[in-house]
Amino acid sequence: MLLKNKVAIVTGCASLKGIGWATAKRFADEGATVALLDLDEKGGHAAAREIGPIHIGYACDVRDAKRCNEVVAEIIASFGTVDILVNNAGVSQAKRLMDSTADDYDIVMDVSLRGAYNMSRAVVPHFRSRKSGNIACIGSIAAQRGGGVLGGPHYAAAKGGVQTLAKAMARELAPDGIRVNAVAPGLIDTELLTGKIDDEGKRRVAESTPLGRLGTPQDIANALLFLCSDLSSYVTGVVLDVNGGFHIH
Ligand code: NAD
Repeated sequence: MLLKNKVAIVTGCASLKGIGWATAKRFADEGATVALLDLDEKGGHAAAREIGPIHIGYACDVRDAKRCNEVVAEIIASFGTVDILVNNAGVSQAKRLMDSTADDYDIVMDVSLRGAYNMSRAVVPHFRSRKSGNIACIGSIAAQRGGGVLGGPHYAAAKGGVQTLAKAMARELAPDGIRVNAVAPGLIDTELLTGKIDDEGKRRVAESTPLGRLGTPQDIANALLFLCSDLSSYVTGVVLDVNGGFHIH
C-alpha cells in the first residue's frame, strides 16, 4: 500500500472513463482517502461513491480561487489533512488559431493553467506548515509538439504553461519539503477525444506510436502513483512523458 493513510485531492474526476477518476481509484486502491473535485457536482459525487464510502466528491470550479480555498479548507476539516494534489481538470478544443475565439482561449487556458495555479496556492500553506506535500500536474504531448491531434494552439499553450508552472513551483517549494512534478500524456482514450478524432484517426495514431496503441487512463494513473508516492522521493520538477514512445520518431 503505497499511499496508506494519505489524503489526496484529484481535480476533474466526474467521468468514470477519465484520467482523474482512474487516478482517484488507483490512489484509493493504494490506501489513500480521496477528495474528488469536479465542475459537475452530481457526477463528482457519483464518481466518489463508485470508489467507496470514505471518498468524497466536491463541487469545485478550479477557475474560482475563492472556491478552491473553501474546498481545501472543507477537506482539511473533514479528513484532518491533505498530502497530495493532482491538478488534472482540463478542457481541450481542436480549433485552429483563427477559428478560436477569446472565450475559447479563456476557458481552455483558465481550466488547465489558472486551475492548477489556484489549487496549488490553496494547498501550499497547509503543505508548508507540515514541511511536506506532493503536487502533480497534467501537461500534454501537445505542449511539446505544438498541438496536433486534440488541441489547438491555445490548448498547447495552456499545457506548456502548466508544465512550466510545475517546474517553477518545484524550484520554489523544494526547501519546504514539497515536491512538484508533471505528466505529459500522449493520446489517451477518454471522453476528451469525443468528436475530435474518429476510430480511423485513433488507428493512425496507434500505428505511429512505437508501443502500437493509444494510452489508457490507467497508464497515466500509474505514472501519477509513482510521482505522488515515496517511490519518487528524490524526483521533483520533472515532466514525465507517458506516450508509448511517441518522441522516439
Ligand atoms: P475528461 O474530459 O474525461 O476529464 C476532464 C474533467 O475535468 C471532466 O470531468 C470535467 O468535468 C472536468 N472539468 C472541466 N472544467 C472544469 C473546471 N472548471 N473545474 C473542475 N473540473 C473541470 O478528459 P481526460 O482526457 O480524462 O483529461 C484529463 C486531463 O488530461 C486534462 O487536463 C487533459 O487536458 C489532459 N490530457 C488528456 C489527454 C488525452 O488524450 N485524453 C492527453 C493529454 C492531456
